[in-house]
Amino acid sequence: MARILPYLGTALINLFRKPSTEAFPKGEPPKAQPNYRGRLTYDAAKCINCGLCERVCAPNCMTRTQRPAPGGEPGDLEVTFTFDLTSCTFCGLCADFCSKKAIVLTDDYMMVGSEPQDFIVSGTFIKKAPPKPKYTPEQLAAMKAAAEAKKKAAAEKAAANPEQ
Ligand code: SF4
Ligand code: SF4
Repeated sequence: MARILPYLGTALINLFRKPSTEAFPKGEPPKAQPNYRGRLTYDAAKCINCGLCERVCAPNCMTRTQRPAPGGEPGDLEVTFTFDLTSCTFCGLCADFCSKKAIVLTDDYMMVGSEPQDFIVSGTFIKKAPPKPKYTPEQLAAMKAAAEAKKKAAAEKAAANPEQ
């Protein structure tokens, strides 16, 4: 009995202490630590489709689909980026490499869901085709002449070296 007396005292003191753990979900969820890398967000309006994020993602958890933009001009693309957070390691490399800050790793650590879709982050934007260059008739004639001269030189070279 004498042996357990000190422990009994500690047990009694702890009985009336405030819990060290968080009261969540009863209270406010505790804030994440600074620089915590949680749920990823993607802002398609900022994206320029450079593809760097896709290249640096080791687990390959993002997909990019491109198709002709419905109702758009010829050459316009509809681009969709999809991030699968079940494969994401939250390394943050994609956000680090994104010069447009289109990807942000937030401090949201409560990633709970019951459907695969709950862990999908996606965004779509239209990438306009670059404007067609407008050349003057003189420029067009000069380009045509240059192309023909190049073609002629290649043909002459081939004729001079039939072995090659
Ligand atoms: S790195 Fe940024 S701008 Fe480039 S494709 Fe990814 S999200 Fe878009
Ligand atoms: S945080 Fe890392 S693993 Fe997740 S999408 Fe970005 S690069 Fe890929």
